[in-house]
Amino acid sequence: MSLLEVSRLKASYGEIQALHGVDLALDESSVTTVLGANGAGKTTLLRAICGTVSRTGEISFAGERIDAAPTASIIRRGIGHVPEGRGTFVKLSVEDNLKLGAYARRDRGAAAEDMERVYGYFPVLAERRRQQAGTLSGGEQQMLAIGRALMSRPRLLVLDEPSFGLAPKIVSMIFEIMARIRDERQAALLLVEQNAALALDFADHAYLLETGRMIRAGRAADLREDAAIRRAYLGY
Ligand code: ATP
Repeated sequence: MSLLEVSRLKASYGEIQALHGVDLALDESSVTTVLGANGAGKTTLLRAICGTVSRTGEISFAGERIDAAPTASIIRRGIGHVPEGRGTFVKLSVEDNLKLGAYARRDRGAAAEDMERVYGYFPVLAERRRQQAGTLSGGEQQMLAIGRALMSRPRLLVLDEPSFGLAPKIVSMIFEIMARIRDERQAALLLVEQNAALALDFADHAYLLETGRMIRAGRAADLREDAAIRRAYLGY
């Protein structure tokens, strides 16, 4: 059984249908990336899984249906969302942002342990724990968004363009931390990433979304060798 199974998923914004019946499955501790042009529906797919956009179809996580569940319940079951634009609360301190990531949890003691673990991944956040999130650099805000999602102890971390707007050195660091999260916490990762080469090198599996439909799925290494994908997404 896959950790996450999505079938016939549809989602719309009023009259605009963004997903037209999407299927996707991923396993425990695996990395999956979704490629697609602007407006293909990648962000909407992640939102639909996390319950922040209305959707129809079936979504099962760890063997249970979550397609009718509210977002808080989805987080509690083990899906952490690092949304596009990071979604940090700019007026709150770093530490209060992290605490908000644990709001769906009931085991406060373990949440304190998790905060220390997040500071272990991102020591710069520990140094700035009392600083307002809005004063952090873009890279630090991305680290905070990932840290906040980790506070719910996710079995699946869903990340929307974590490298967006960041310097190459920071991007490498974020990818190293994502690899550690997979290895040390056995978390699965579902990644939407503008840097397709980086995403395909990092991922085990890849999907290609085009105007709300999945048109390809396979091993990331195979898609990386595909001539059409190279031309469209890798630029050679
Ligand atoms: P990008 O790479 O530009 O972020 P994407 O693949 O993530 O694109 P989505 O953002 O999911 O694509 O958008 C899919 C479709 O849904 C597009 O036609 C987009 O215009 C529309 N859409 C997205 N968000 C909204 C919204 N909040 N209200 C209305 N339409 C939206």
